[in-house]
This record gives sequence, C-alpha cells and structure tokens, in this order.
Amino acid sequence: MSAELPDGTLASHPHSRAHRENWRHDMINLHDNVKLPAVGMTGFETPLTEEEAAIQQSVHRFARDVMRPISQELDRMTAEQVVAPTSPYWTVFSEFAKLDLDPALIAQFPPETAVRIESLIGEELGWGDSGLAVSLGAAGFPLQMAQAVGNKELVEISMGKIGCWIVTQPDKGSDITTLYPKQDGAPGVPFNRGNLLAKVGADEIVINGQCSSWVSNGASAQVALVYMNADYGDGELYDGEGRPHGVAMVMPLDLPGVSRGKPLDKIGQRALPQGEIYFDNVKVPKRFAVALKDDYYGNFASAWSFAGTHMSQVFTGVARAAFEHALAYCHDRKQSGARLIDHQLTRFRLGDMLRRVELARSVARRSLAYARLSPRSHPYATASAKVTVTEEAMKVTSEALQLFGGFGTSREYPIEKLFRDARAALIEDGENNVLTMRLGLLAHRLFDDEGWTQN
Ligand SMILES: Cc1cc2nc3c(=O)[nH]c(=O)nc-3n(C[C@H](O)[C@H](O)[C@H](O)COP(=O)(O)OP(=O)(O)OC[C@H]3O[C@@H](n4cnc5c(N)ncnc54)[C@H](O)[C@@H]3O)c2cc1C
Repeated sequence: MSAELPDGTLASHPHSRAHRENWRHDMINLHDNVKLPAVGMTGFETPLTEEEAAIQQSVHRFARDVMRPISQELDRMTAEQVVAPTSPYWTVFSEFAKLDLDPALIAQFPPETAVRIESLIGEELGWGDSGLAVSLGAAGFPLQMAQAVGNKELVEISMGKIGCWIVTQPDKGSDITTLYPKQDGAPGVPFNRGNLLAKVGADEIVINGQCSSWVSNGASAQVALVYMNADYGDGELYDGEGRPHGVAMVMPLDLPGVSRGKPLDKIGQRALPQGEIYFDNVKVPKRFAVALKDDYYGNFASAWSFAGTHMSQVFTGVARAAFEHALAYCHDRKQSGARLIDHQLTRFRLGDMLRRVELARSVARRSLAYARLSPRSHPYATASAKVTVTEEAMKVTSEALQLFGGFGTSREYPIEKLFRDARAALIEDGENNVLTMRLGLLAHRLFDDEGWTQN
C-alpha cells in the first residue's frame, strides 16, 4: 500500500510527483557535463559501502605490501626453498591472519553484500599474487568443510592450520570431474578407481596410495580434505550410476604412514607449494569422515561448487594486475615520437583488455552469487565461470606482455610472471576443455531431464 503524498496522490500513482521523479531517475541519470566516470579499484563499480571500502583497502594493502614482494622472491626460488622453514612463504599466513577476515563475520552481511565482499577480497588477493591467493584459499578448506558438517573435533583439528584439498591422483586427473559416467565414460569400461583407496571398517578407515603432485599446498599443508575411492567391504565397488564408491574426510597430515614427495617445480604460480602425499596403511578414525558411501558425490559436488568460485575472483585480479601494468607502461614508453598511449592502436588494445577485465569480473561475481545464493548450485556452473575468467586472464596477460615489447619477455618486468601464472590456471581446478565439455553435458541433461529451454 503506497503512502499518500502532500500533493494528494499516492507515491505509486503514475501521476504522483514522487513517481514521476523516480521514473525520471530510473530512466536517465542526467549530468550537465561529460566529466570522467566514477571508478574504483574494481573498475566500473557501483559505490561501495563504508565497510566494503574498508575491507577492500585493507586487503589491497596486504596484497601490495606483503603478497607482491614475497611472491616475487618465491618466484625465483626452487620449489624446495619455497617451503623451507626460513622461507617468507610462511609469513604470508601470519600476516593474513592479522586481517581478521572471518568468513562467519562476512556471512552476517545481507547475502548480496556478503557475495560482493567475498568477490572484492578474492580479486585483491589475486591482484597481489595468484599462487599465494590459491594457497590461502586451499589452506582454509578443511576447516570450512568441518564447520559445514558441524564436526567440532574436526574444527579443532583444522583451526589455525594450513590445509589442502586432495582430489586428483596420478592416474585420475580429468576423470575426477566426471559426475555422470553413464553419459561421459567409455561404454563397457568400468570407471577409473585411481591410485588412492580407503578401506572403510566399523570404526576405522585405512588409506593406501597417493595423490597427484598437483595438489595445492601438498608440500606445505598440515591438514587435508581428502576425496578418494572406498571399499566398504560389502563387495560393491560402484554405485548405480557406475561411479566408484568413495569416502571424504578431514585428516591431520602428521599421522603415521603419511609422507611427502619432492615439491613440484613448475612454470607459474611458483609461490604455491604443490606436491605428492603418500599414504602407507594410514589409519584414521571413522568419525573423521565427512561423507560416506551414499553422500560422497553430493558432498564432493558441493565442495567443488563452493571452493571453485575462488578461482574466478583470483584470476579476475590477475587480469586486472596485467591491465594496470600495461596502462602505466603505455604512459611511459615512447615510439614514433609519441607515448604508446598516444597511438590509436595501443588505445584499442588497452580498451580491449579493460573490456575483458570487466567481463571476467562480471562472470566471476555472477557465478559466486549463484554458488552462494541459489537453492541448488552445481560444480559445472562454478567451473564454467572459471573457464571464462581464466581464458580472459590469459588473453589479457598475453596482450600486456605484447605491449611491453621485448621488455615483456624480461624477468626484470612483472608481466612474464603474470603470463606464466595465468597459463597454469587453464589446467588448475579442471582443464578448461574438459570443463567446457562437462558444461555441454549439463545442458544436455537439463534439456532431456528437466525440459529446460523447451517452453
Ligand atoms: C596450479 C594447479 C593447481 C592444482 N591444484 C589441485 C588441488 O589443490 N587438488 C587436486 O586434487 N588437484 C589439483 N590440481 C590438479 C588439476 O585438477 C588437474 O591437473 C586437472 O584436473 C587435469 O588433470 P591432469 O593434469 O591429470 O590432465 P589429464 O586429465 O591427463 O588431461 C590431459 C589432456 O587430455 C584431455 N582430456 C582428458 N580427459 C578427456 C576426455 N574425457 N575427453 C577429451 N579430452 C580429455 C584434457 O583436455 C587435457 O588436455 C592442480 C593443477 C594445477 C595445474
């Protein structure tokens, strides 16, 4: 019911002044000049609230003053040096803790605000350094799962620890992203059981095998959220869909029988310590399980839908960092008697980069909102945003390197590192072609099973 206004009309009445003014306001935001638009660190952004701006500023300072200098140091170290006790890697965690970014506090904001705050934080961390941003994200994952299932003992075990997320194995890479093997697997071939197996007993779970060398924080983690195939001793190895049964658990990594491989040496995100973890008859109490047999794939899909969103925010930050470096360089470097920015072609190239950063940010935010606020999220939806954002980040970092000319290839300049970091992201958290193929399967299932798009 609309309030009566001083002119005697109802506010909602089409002839009321309030309605007319609102209508006018809604249609065109009139200005009497062509001054430059309002922009923030995150581009063409509607105004941030005081709290949002304060959080963004404090994470930005951390990204600029702690993450960037440390990541540049770590980038030049060997993989072993990155996780040595004297490495500056560990400082990132103690400094990050000082920011006091408690997810429970952020969750108290209205949902849309909480999503924007989470996006702002992820983007600043990615702008600081993607390898460290992924390391910080993976570090908190076992704790978040312990909290989600409400297991106080597991919360205690993971609180204040560096965590990791173990899913892939040497022989089971893209296969871990298969949720519907009846449509996605080779006909007549039993689905891949991988190299990590848990025997689930009445009170105890015994683990044997190893994870892949790609596990983020595999070389630094103290606690893990582990997804693996399981034998429940009942002769049933596969479920009705043809998927191997599994068990998910949160476990400390100092148990007898756990050992590590050599930290992985790789092209980009060199500040992110990756490496194999071996399990030799490792005995874990069954109460550490967060999902058994029938709950396993639902739990895995929820975990991936939730955590995979971080990738999109982080690589939006990487794209933005590359754009900012290129923008500054084009104001400095002169060719043909003028600064690069004074040439139309370079302006076009910068405009194209900025457009892609805005695209990445929009997709990242939309996918985060869907994952957090929709009644039923799906990992293939989360992953589709990761594909878009990382492909755009790759294009932007590559074009930034090109704009730096020969200097772009030099390790004296920051662009080649961003280029290497973005390149790894096209495979990280699922290889992009495979993820896009899974998105196509999702569209097929929605069309066939739900009648989606058929009205
Ligand atoms: C930086 C980084 C961080 C990572 N972090 C983690 C982590 O924290 N935890 C974790 O468990 N893992 C992690 N991974 C592993 C990552 O998830 C895998 O690398 C990824 O899923 C691809 O698996 P793969 O490397 O075994 O490649 P493969 O699956 O062997 O793929 C090789 C090629 O074959 C193609 N291919 C594969 N299957 C098919 C198919 N069915 N049809 C057509 N083509 C196909 C792919 O497109 C790809 O080009 C990380 C990887 C990277 C690079």
